[in-house]
Amino acid sequence: MDFSKHAFFEGKILPLSEAKIGIATHGFLYGTSVFGGMRAYWNQEKGKLFLFRPFDHFRRLINSGKMMAMQSPYDEEGFIQLTLDLLKTDNWKQDIYLRPTLYKADMGIGVKLHDLRDEFCMFVIPFEKYVKNDTDAHLTVSSWRRIDDNVIPARGKVAGGYANSALIKTDANRAGFDEALVLDNNGHVSEGSAMNIFMVRDGLLVTPPVTDNILEGITRRSVIELAKKELGLEVVERSIDRTEVFIAEEMFMTGTAAQIVAVTKIDHRPVGSGVMGNITTKLRSLFDDVVRAKNPKFNHWNVEVK
Ligand code: PMP
Repeated sequence: MDFSKHAFFEGKILPLSEAKIGIATHGFLYGTSVFGGMRAYWNQEKGKLFLFRPFDHFRRLINSGKMMAMQSPYDEEGFIQLTLDLLKTDNWKQDIYLRPTLYKADMGIGVKLHDLRDEFCMFVIPFEKYVKNDTDAHLTVSSWRRIDDNVIPARGKVAGGYANSALIKTDANRAGFDEALVLDNNGHVSEGSAMNIFMVRDGLLVTPPVTDNILEGITRRSVIELAKKELGLEVVERSIDRTEVFIAEEMFMTGTAAQIVAVTKIDHRPVGSGVMGNITTKLRSLFDDVVRAKNPKFNHWNVEVK
């Protein structure tokens, strides 16, 4: 994997090879770190790089930290500034993915959250597709359950919680599927391993509410707004039953890495007509324009790297 030449670590930008933590670091030993996943997109015509919704990503990072008793060393604006500085250092001219992490930085043994030093770091990688079959993904319903808010908060990006996502993803891939739908402990469809889900039923766009053990996705929020404002669709946030996905007209998954992935089969049953539907197709094209700062109505979501 190709990485950035520089990283942000312990308050400064330095060569990636010097950004290292010790093997006894709390965040590494116990999964006590929280992270973000953000993208910046290259706009070829303008010859410029644009961060997509960095304020919202850093707000979620700070909120994930709050759930884990962390004191963020920066506010949203401070994070955006240091991100711009880091991106300028390596002068990126392609689509990239950024991984900011807040972590319990003290070294030693002892499971707890309090009285530990919090640190922040970030690196960058060039990035294109996360799900290869993003126009015709085949999903299975995972035998794993989604972590519950009373176990590890699913609404925050807590590193330890991603053991759950890793189990889900590996079993789905090894069984020959592209991704999985994960049920929560109430048996409702929550999300995928690292993406939110939407279905179209009777012409309505339906997605689980933030109280059904999902990550509060920023792509999810963007798609809800685009669907309402640009496609005039009604969007309903409600619990989704397992068998509803078999009779949906369309289904897709959303995430920063995944972007918008069309789901055309679930456990060998076709979704709708078994090919990517009209609403999914339109949203994918709208979303691609919006993230590349090509749609003036949504330019407030793009921050130019300069
Ligand atoms: N759910 C999970 C579990 C995720 O890890 C992600 C990726 N961050 C998402 C949903 C999608 O969230 P977002 O659109 O903010 O990337």
